[in-house]
Amino acid sequence: MDFLKLLNNNSIFQDIHSAAQELNVKTFVIGGFVRDYILGRPSKDIDVVCLGSGIELAELVALKLGKEGKVTVFKNFGTAMLQAGEWEVEFVGARKESYNRDSRKPVVEDGSLEDDQNRRDFTINAMAVSLNKDDYGQLVDPFGGVKDLKRKVIRTPLDPKVTFSDDPLRMMRAVRFAAQLNFDITPDTFDALIEQAGRLKIVSAERIADELNKIIMTNKPSYGFKLLYHARLLHQFFPEMVALQGVEEREGHTHKDNFYHTLEVLDNVAEVSDDLWLRWAAILHDIAKPPTKRFHKKAGWTFHGHEDKGARMVPGIFRRLKLPMDHKMKFVEKLVRLHLRPIALVKETVTDSALRRLLFDAGDDLDALMKLCRADITSKNDNKVQRYLRNFDKVERKIEEVEEKDHVRNFQPPVSGEEIMEAFNLKPSREVGVIKEEIKEAILEGKIRNNREEAWQYMLEVAGKMGLEAEKK
Ligand code: ATP
Ligand code: MG
Repeated sequence: MDFLKLLNNNSIFQDIHSAAQELNVKTFVIGGFVRDYILGRPSKDIDVVCLGSGIELAELVALKLGKEGKVTVFKNFGTAMLQAGEWEVEFVGARKESYNRDSRKPVVEDGSLEDDQNRRDFTINAMAVSLNKDDYGQLVDPFGGVKDLKRKVIRTPLDPKVTFSDDPLRMMRAVRFAAQLNFDITPDTFDALIEQAGRLKIVSAERIADELNKIIMTNKPSYGFKLLYHARLLHQFFPEMVALQGVEEREGHTHKDNFYHTLEVLDNVAEVSDDLWLRWAAILHDIAKPPTKRFHKKAGWTFHGHEDKGARMVPGIFRRLKLPMDHKMKFVEKLVRLHLRPIALVKETVTDSALRRLLFDAGDDLDALMKLCRADITSKNDNKVQRYLRNFDKVERKIEEVEEKDHVRNFQPPVSGEEIMEAFNLKPSREVGVIKEEIKEAILEGKIRNNREEAWQYMLEVAGKMGLEAEKK
């Protein structure tokens, strides 16, 4: 691997080199940047470690770049950050760390490059490239990181049990890197995951969610979830998902394994969308199957109401996992609640009013809902899947036709509450709401068309039946 070319082609490295020379401190590029360069994944984040003060080094580099005073210093961590053109460079002094059992925060002291590499999480993240005069551009790879990149494995530099117990967040990172890079985790390191999984309890929910979301955003998220499951990490923070796993047989009736089904749906969604929250909807669409599961002698297994119960479970799960409680959560909740609706429309006999109701209920999220529903069609029988998908095309065409005709996707009441109050000389009251609701229902049911004239006429009828008289004008 030719690091000289990299270093010579980007002046930032020469600037760091000459600042380090002046201060007479040994300096290296380390970690993710080196890994990603070898993998051919260009990265703009550079981590620099020096045998001295990272803050002083950062300040001198800034001075050389005419960026005096532009260094962001994190005194508590002894690190400094500098934005230089397209690069974001983080400077830190080499350190040695020791941990105690109750916290992820280590006791830190100055150390050698070797000490610093020893505290890194994985062999592929522990490689350094020298920025020093005598061995400029040379790779320092004490744990065989290059070999592990070639073998495509995640492995800790030291005893994995100790590495994971010291900072249990590394367990989530192990799965995340395996998922992002499509690597295996070596057996020793994997055994340590299983053994230390319980230590995840000292990691904050936010940090776990960060890693989990990165896993969800990979090309084939099922892989990361299977690793989380088999390492028993998933059990620590997401028991509802673990509960999806398993099949039960009674009197010849079996049901599918909803964990693997969910992962298939998630992979299907990932193929067509990079929307994290649509992916979350896939993860949660069947989450209430375990608590709604019943056995009936004739019908076999049922999961009645799992879509409603599932939607009601969404806020609690989001809160606990420290995911956002805003419109993103509402979107997931809505998709979980509606996820069976389009499938019910596949029948030949489907009425326009059923289509209008779905349009009305899904609104702007209809496209996302349809993606989820298509992804939800999983079967070992490919012909069956294809047939279902073709039926779905038909449903989508019908929905388009109805929308063109009736415009209920972003339904706006054709007669407003104020107009109703004025027409019948009403104060804000229950009656106004009833009349508005009746007009909306009539449109969705197809009794009247979605326009002002028909709605006005209908309003007069409804109000008449309620014994209200229109104001004479
Ligand atoms: P990415 O930026 O894609 O997440 P990265 O490897 O750069 O990947 P960072 O979190 O930016 O990851 O960390 C930079 C480097 O710091 C890592 O390559 C690794 O050497 C080290 N590191 C980060 N977090 C830990 C940790 N919890 N334990 C040990 N080393 C860590
Ligand atoms: Mg990074």
